[in-house]
Amino acid sequence: MTGITILGATGTIGLNTLDVISQHRDRFQVVALTAHENVERLYQQCLTWRPRYAVMVKTDAAEQLQAKLKSVAPEIEVLSGTEGLITVAKLPEVDMVMAAIVGAAGLLPTLAAAEAGKRVLLANKEALVMSGALFMAAVQQQGAELLPIDSEHNAVFQCLPPAKFDGQAVSELASQGIRRILLTASGGPFRTYPIDALHDVTPDQACAHPNWKMGRKISVDSATMMNKGLEVIEACWLFNASPQQVDVVLHPQSVIHSMVEYVDGSVLAQLGNPDMRTPIAYALAWPERMSAGVSPLDLVQTAKLEFEAADWQRFPCLRLAYEAMAAGGTSTTILNAANEIAVAAFLDGQLKFTAIPDVIERTLSQLTGRPVVQLETILEDDAKARLLATEIVAQH
Ligand code: NDP
Ligand code: MG
Repeated sequence: MTGITILGATGTIGLNTLDVISQHRDRFQVVALTAHENVERLYQQCLTWRPRYAVMVKTDAAEQLQAKLKSVAPEIEVLSGTEGLITVAKLPEVDMVMAAIVGAAGLLPTLAAAEAGKRVLLANKEALVMSGALFMAAVQQQGAELLPIDSEHNAVFQCLPPAKFDGQAVSELASQGIRRILLTASGGPFRTYPIDALHDVTPDQACAHPNWKMGRKISVDSATMMNKGLEVIEACWLFNASPQQVDVVLHPQSVIHSMVEYVDGSVLAQLGNPDMRTPIAYALAWPERMSAGVSPLDLVQTAKLEFEAADWQRFPCLRLAYEAMAAGGTSTTILNAANEIAVAAFLDGQLKFTAIPDVIERTLSQLTGRPVVQLETILEDDAKARLLATEIVAQH
């Protein structure tokens, strides 16, 4: 039995992971489930999965969960806080950690899982964007395996020669005959929306993704295309690529999940229905394959695969992400922090959609990134960027 901790069990990725595991109960043992504040959902999951540990980050939520579990499942130990998350990421009986917390809150437990040498199934791209250098060093030093859940990176992973990527990203792309990585992007709900009407779009419009059902933060990121920008940075770290070696192409059908182009002109692509259970099952079973409950792709029904250039005018966040990655150091930490503040303000009705890139650009122009020497550097710049971005939001 493979022991697994699911960080962010109550979110979209968490639910999809439990769905895949429910089809293979003979292979996986759920050791720990975590959430932030959704007591009712984690309680239901505890009743179904009977994990050894349940973590609610908020203390009052942990107390509520403990009270509810007391009479029905007193054997489940309830922990709280970031400490609780770190504890369950490192447990000796845990082989794999699904990192599916949204945003910077996922950094410390995900890093802890890498430092403990686990197989890390990485959905939480923000962790890698914030601290790619430290993360990859921890993975390599501790012999962890970092397997991408993000559908694009999982697709690239499937199209790379096995010698290139064994879960620890090693050699240069060129030494494996690879010219570039091509990330596909749906373009989100506003790909063809009148550009001068974008400032009035609502959070619900931004969260109505045409192809994927996701949490609200990543849905807004998809609408601004910051999600693709974060994915470019994620790809650079995961696959040891420079930003110039990672291109983005719009593909509205979301059937090709990404591609790898080789020097002989071959382009390998991974296709499938847009369903996160495919990359989740691939990473859980790797290097084997197992069923995911995903319906087969019907190419005749799909009929058309279309491609367009990504428009940096419409999607300035994509440009900002490339610039931050080129600047290096904590610039991507600052980009990520400012984006999280701006997206939260937009979802809260305090900021216009079109002001999101403006807040990020102004934060980046007032706070210069530094070389990353240790985790403290990252946490300091993350905190500074959040303060500054909050001030900039207040001026809007
Ligand atoms: P959701 O918003 O659906 O779920 C987020 C999860 O994280 C929930 O379990 C939530 O708990 C928990 N959480 C939220 N805030 C905190 C916090 N401060 N501390 C600890 N836990 C917290 O997000 P998604 O599942 O959509 O996305 C999760 C991650 O996966 C993101 O990084 C996203 O970019 C990435 N991803 C998602 C994809 C998708 O298809 N959804 C695709 C590719 C990547 P609670 O329910 O209690 O709030
Ligand atoms: Mg993705």
